[in-house]
Order: sequence, then structure tokens, then C-alpha cells
Amino acid sequence: MCADTVTPEQRSKIMALVKSKNTKPEMVVRSLCHAMGLRFRLHRRDLPGTPDLVFPKHRLCLFVHGCFWHRHGCKYSSMPKSRADYWATKFDTNASRDERCINRLKLMDWRVDVIWECELKDLDRVKERVQTLTTLLD
Ligand SMILES: [Zn+2]
Repeated sequence: MCADTVTPEQRSKIMALVKSKNTKPEMVVRSLCHAMGLRFRLHRRDLPGTPDLVFPKHRLCLFVHGCFWHRHGCKYSSMPKSRADYWATKFDTNASRDERCINRLKLMDWRVDVIWECELKDLDRVKERVQTLTTLLD
């Protein structure tokens, strides 16, 4: 199926998800990929870091990262003012775990990409990126 097939209805549904405070960023990416007609699996625990979305046909793993927890460095990832040491340690652990998992996946010949929470504000760009990533190996 061609990845250009996100209908206006699907699109507005996904945009509603983006705007809803209770939706995890991962759900937005899932809906988008689903609307694009892509086949993927969720949370493959047998892979390092349990990637959020796995596209076996394209040998692609996608992580959807919250900006705060994974330290994107954008405006959504400001450092908490209290207990700075505690947070600094916690964030360091997260960041090094992310890096380690991504490196291991690459060693296993997976292609890996991270979609950040804040990037979901521009759904067309995310769609284009996923489209590029999933057509490389077609
Ligand atoms: Zn961000």
C-alpha cells in the first residue's frame, strides 16, 4: 500500500490525538503509521530497549521519546528546579540506556530512528520521515 493514503478523516483524527493531553506520543505515531498502511509490531521485548514500533519488512525500529524523560534539549525538557542532583542522575541513566540500546540495535543491522514528542506538532514532517524510512528497503 502506498504511504500517501492518509485520508483527511484519518488526518484530523490523528491531529485530535496530538492535541489531547492524555494521549501518549507513541499512540499518535501508531495511528499515523496505521493510517499510512504500514505493518508494524509493538514493543518487541526481544530487541534492545523494547522499541516502540518495529517494522520487520523495513528492518526499522522506531522509538517515540517524551522530550522531558529522554532529554531532548527542547523547551519541553527543562531541568526541574528542586532535587537537581536526583534528576541529573536519573536523566543521565536514561540517556545512556537509550544510546546503548540504539547502538546494539544498529549492530544487529536494524535501522533506528527516534521521533520526539515535540516533533508531532508537525505531523506532515513526521509522515514524510516515516515514509522515507519505510521506502528505503522496498
Ligand atoms: Zn522535544
